[in-house]
Amino acid sequence: MTRISHRVDQIKPSATIMVGMQAMQLKAQGKDIVSLDFGEPDFDTPEHIREAAIAAIREGKTRYTQVDGTPELKQAIIEKFHRDNQLNFEPKQILISNGAKQSLFNLMVALLNHGDEVIVPAPYWVSYPDMVKLADAEPAILVGTAEHDYKITARELHNTLNENTRLIILNSPSNPTGKVYTENEYRELGEVLIEHPKVFIACDDIYEHIYWGNGSYCTFLNACPNLTDRTVVINGVSKAYAMTGWRIGYLAGPEDLVAAMGKVQGQSTSCASSVSQAAAVAALNGPQDCVEQMRNEFKRRYQYIHGALNDIPGVECPDCDGAFYAFPTFQGFLDSRDDIKDDVELASWLLEEAGVSTVPGSAFGAPGHLRLSYAASMDYLEEAISRIRKAITAK
Ligand code: PMP
Ligand code: GLU
Repeated sequence: MTRISHRVDQIKPSATIMVGMQAMQLKAQGKDIVSLDFGEPDFDTPEHIREAAIAAIREGKTRYTQVDGTPELKQAIIEKFHRDNQLNFEPKQILISNGAKQSLFNLMVALLNHGDEVIVPAPYWVSYPDMVKLADAEPAILVGTAEHDYKITARELHNTLNENTRLIILNSPSNPTGKVYTENEYRELGEVLIEHPKVFIACDDIYEHIYWGNGSYCTFLNACPNLTDRTVVINGVSKAYAMTGWRIGYLAGPEDLVAAMGKVQGQSTSCASSVSQAAAVAALNGPQDCVEQMRNEFKRRYQYIHGALNDIPGVECPDCDGAFYAFPTFQGFLDSRDDIKDDVELASWLLEEAGVSTVPGSAFGAPGHLRLSYAASMDYLEEAISRIRKAITAK
């Protein structure tokens, strides 16, 4: 008999974290590994943000804060939503957590009941389906096809919604595809969702600032303001400000749901770190040129890796408008090899043969693909590409 709860027994460890840890272990053993697995900016947190944290420690801001976050950070978030997204929220609509990951988790626990279904468009970030299961609900995977840029269409959404559907998770720019929903595409999805009043929308905008598409960035509520009373906008400082380790994420949504999520947080982690919250205030209120510099660098790397992957026989890398992941299909290469069955075996093979660590597409609901994070220096990326090319083209 298992000693572990059924709830936990049915979920997988996070594939991104597992693969990242495995690469770290191999490196610690002295192996020469180029890791393109973990999705976190390789830049240091900008100086003025680090200084704000040091000042907070010196000023004694080292105690528990309000469960839902400090008034200063809430105000900075309200101003951020107004400035960047033309959205207006009240302090009671904001909840600050230990990373956007906890924001999403709080949402699932506060909203979902046994028997509920959550539409998770694939390719999806690895944690969504398992978070749904941890909240005792069922993920309904809706595949966005390559023909539609890996995005779901209004018709597909219409065909998937049913009386058990309680939530849909939208993520743009997407981890892992980097694809971005346009205002029109969001509007079409909204026209379907308006007919289903029980369904909430979680809009994960964590890669909002790592975006280089034509036109300004559009969040779901810009296209569908009529769904404000059942939309939760999720964001954080991890990606935009290179602050993954500080663990600050936040959300904005309807007051009753935010209060319920605050109750979950009050009984689980109390509050986010006081020092990190002070740093996040400096990130959101301070100069924003660091965000643009990092975005430009990510775009430069994207242009390199996109072209370089497409030059490798049997590999096809779609273009994209944001985030920091390439998500090529290796199906052509897999079809040419009898000894490598699928993307999971391919990722292990590349680790062994080439010393390059990637995440298999199956972990994102997209077999045949690999995810390569280009949150790494150009030299590092060039080395990775040269190793992959050599392994793949060797006879
Ligand atoms: N959403 C997506 C799509 C992500 O890739 C990540 C990456 N960690 C998160 C949410 C959570 O970010 P964090 O908890 O660091 O704020
Ligand atoms: N979101 C990043 C990734 O997809 C970090 C790891 C994680 O939290 O899953 O690699």
